[in-house]
Amino acid sequence: MPLVADRCICLRKIEFSETSQILTLFARQGGVVRVIAKGAHRTTKVGASKFGGGIDLLDVAEAVFSHAPHRELPPLTEWRLTEGHRELRRNLRAIYLGTYAAELVTTLVHEHDPHVELFDRLEQSLREVATARREQAFLAFTLDLLRETGLMPELNACINCGQPMSRVARAAFAIDRGGVACGDCAPNFSRRVGIDPRLLRVVQTILTLPRLAGQPQRLPGLTRNQTDPLNRLLAEHIRFSSARELRLARYILAPSA
Ligand SMILES: [Zn+2]
Repeated sequence: MPLVADRCICLRKIEFSETSQILTLFARQGGVVRVIAKGAHRTTKVGASKFGGGIDLLDVAEAVFSHAPHRELPPLTEWRLTEGHRELRRNLRAIYLGTYAAELVTTLVHEHDPHVELFDRLEQSLREVATARREQAFLAFTLDLLRETGLMPELNACINCGQPMSRVARAAFAIDRGGVACGDCAPNFSRRVGIDPRLLRVVQTILTLPRLAGQPQRLPGLTRNQTDPLNRLLAEHIRFSSARELRLARYILAPSA
């Protein structure tokens, strides 16, 4: 089996037996891959395990693993940690947003499907959720993920009459139609959540901002009063489009009033 070296972010881990871990990794060149880290928790006589005592969620590393798309769980052979996210791990909200971003990637990105730009966006966004820019950085990442996977909902104009959201006073998101409806058309759609049209304009603003590789985007500052309704809408959309539950969504959304 040929070995490949790739920069990876750990998206998901399952402790497997006393010493091993099954990992879902986002590899920069190779896309989402699942590997087994045998002996991750076993320490040698000199006191160090091959993988530094175990791999954590969101860890970024230069990794080496067998390239075997048809094999169930190829082994991870090297893991040289480059970013352990010490800042991020000091803030509970940052941990939730970071791990939820990882869950969204495993939910929407198919295995062995390369997404180099999205990898770079995730790596950048994980640095930003450790800062005061975390709310806008997380929202911008979710929008980029939806765009990259072809699942961006219609948030610009009413899916029924075409009226732009910039001109309506009330709006709702029709979950099973993947788009917004104006206040007049909303009653036609039974599975819907109300949304303030001003927040939809915030989304349009974010979508038109330039992205420069390796640099934080100049995003508008957002509070949770603004991001919670949008994150809730996007979580409903992702659940419906993927037909999968999002385990971490409830940790990042405030309980509804
Ligand atoms: Zn309408």
